[in-house]
Amino acid sequence: MAKFRSPRGTHDILPDEAAVFRRVYETSRRVFEHSGYREIITPMFEEKELFARSVGAETDIVKKEMYVFEDRGGRILALRPEGTASVIRSYLQHGLHAAADIQKLYYLGPMFRYDRPAAGRYRQFHQVGTEAIGSMSPYLDVETIFLLRELSIDLGITRASMHLNSVGCRECRPGYIGVLKGYLGDRLDQLCGDCRTRFEVNPLRMLDCKNESCQAIYRDTPLIIDHLCEECEGHFDEVRAILTATDIPFVLNPRLVRGLDYYTKTAFELVPDAEAGGSQSSLGGGGRYDELVEMLGGAPTPAVGFSAGVERLVTALEELGEKGEGAGADGKPDVDVFFVVTDEETRRTAFRSMFELRNRVRIDMDHSGKSVKAQFRLANRLGVSLTVVFGGDELKRGVVNVKDMESGDEFEVPLSELGTRLAEIRTP
Ligand code: AMP
Repeated sequence: MAKFRSPRGTHDILPDEAAVFRRVYETSRRVFEHSGYREIITPMFEEKELFARSVGAETDIVKKEMYVFEDRGGRILALRPEGTASVIRSYLQHGLHAAADIQKLYYLGPMFRYDRPAAGRYRQFHQVGTEAIGSMSPYLDVETIFLLRELSIDLGITRASMHLNSVGCRECRPGYIGVLKGYLGDRLDQLCGDCRTRFEVNPLRMLDCKNESCQAIYRDTPLIIDHLCEECEGHFDEVRAILTATDIPFVLNPRLVRGLDYYTKTAFELVPDAEAGGSQSSLGGGGRYDELVEMLGGAPTPAVGFSAGVERLVTALEELGEKGEGAGADGKPDVDVFFVVTDEETRRTAFRSMFELRNRVRIDMDHSGKSVKAQFRLANRLGVSLTVVFGGDELKRGVVNVKDMESGDEFEVPLSELGTRLAEIRTP
């Protein structure tokens, strides 16, 4: 029994799974970069206040789920629970608005939430996401929705639906919240404790309650899309029209709200279809946040973005039977060539040569003092295509013996030409 285990809610990504993880990262990068987004890497912790201001002081994320700590200098910091606040902080700090009308940025990396661990819910998880900052255009809402959809489709996840809603803006949301509270005010005693608290601090979130008895009551509540101001309604109409014109299917979900306060207008989530056997939790989601830049001290600057959970995508891929491609997919390291040594003398030469050639060819060798026969067995098990035997007599003549593991052909190669020959054989 190991003495230490990973902290509750965290998980190790072992080599086999890391290959699938990497595929999600690589696919994300390709999809984002093909659409003109550039990577931004921000710190994993920030001033706590940044998240309180942006995500919302009364949200579950900030109130219950943030890892907050004081550093030795007395600063109150928090591990980032999401990516957008940091990206906008950085955008403002470095005056990125001056560099281009619209900044299109993406990020990948770990996020931290002191959430109740469950299937697909971790305390350290990973997100990939994009932010398009500086435009009101509904085309960018659709581009963002396209990116989330494209990412999942590129990965092979097809049985998921894009849920869409508008959550209004500071003009129309307060009016709607008044209507909602008026409707729910005399039904409070039928609601769960969480919803009664949300009624006071964050009524929109009530609609998102997972409790069935609450949902029964919310079935007939007034909906925000019937209370949008003219501008929000016009924008929502445009988004839907462009989605339709670009053949991006979506499901109107007037009860969709997001767990972060900064969203305005468009909100969306990619939800796995129930019959696909996946968990109900969303693969990713996002929306517009036209007020956030201003809330963090910048000039009013509209923006839209999304993030997707890497663990959720990996699980969806595993449910599809995906094992990941490339390194480690079959539990083996990904080397092409194995060096076999006959004694300690030749080990020195082989070891040195391996270091010289590794920048061109993927090579490994044994370090446990196996016999030549056992080294060949290991080479076979690794599935390499070539072995190189470093024998004492051959080395005296300046040559090594290369064996093609598939055909069984053997031939001598001058040690000085080994790198070139191996590279040639590997990439004919
Ligand atoms: P959010 O920032 O809450 O909108 O979450 C965006 C995406 O991140 C979700 O759709 C999930 O895929 C993922 N996610 C959020 N919280 C967790 C968590 N605790 N564990 C794993 N994935 C998460």
